[in-house]
Amino acid sequence: MARIGVLALQGAFREHIRVLRRLGAKASEVRLPQHLAGLDGLILPGGESTTVSKLAADYQLFDPLRELAAGGLPLWGTCAGLILLACDAGDDLPLIGALDVRVKRNAFGSQVDSFEADLAVSVLTEPERSFRAVFIRAPLISYVGPDVKVLANLEDTNGIVAVQQGHLMGTAFHPELTDDDRFHRYFLSLAEG
Ligand code: GLN
Repeated sequence: MARIGVLALQGAFREHIRVLRRLGAKASEVRLPQHLAGLDGLILPGGESTTVSKLAADYQLFDPLRELAAGGLPLWGTCAGLILLACDAGDDLPLIGALDVRVKRNAFGSQVDSFEADLAVSVLTEPERSFRAVFIRAPLISYVGPDVKVLANLEDTNGIVAVQQGHLMGTAFHPELTDDDRFHRYFLSLAEG
């Protein structure tokens, strides 16, 4: 049974924990550096990236998170969590800086706060069945480094919304808010190695 931590400083951490437990993983809340011990994987949930970054600094989580990312721990950032995991968010917000992507925060503007879209994602089980993705004030990935694999694009604009760089994963949307748990299962397969 994989032991998956979920960063629980702010945002949609309870929803991730619920999905993980339903899938049989051992899910725990991470608020302090000592909560990171013994994990097989870690999810950085969506929320408000400025708030999460500030709290992560206050709780001295940045150094241990950077070490775990560099050491190969599977990490998955969703929405604000993707921003936190990225190398570049276009401003001076402190980031983990492990995933070689540039993100544009609130890329869809205030006119379009949230929307849903069907994505084709070939790495998921039943790849012929599209994944209904929920975007909430979502970032867009505007650059990916050479080691980053694009997992999903938005159909109309071709914007990049899901990526993987080895043990690191980022999605601009919120898979924990739908019943489709295929992204969680995919992440568990990385964590179970
Ligand atoms: N726009 C938010 C931010 O910049 C992210 C929104 C989300 O996680 N749903 O932090």
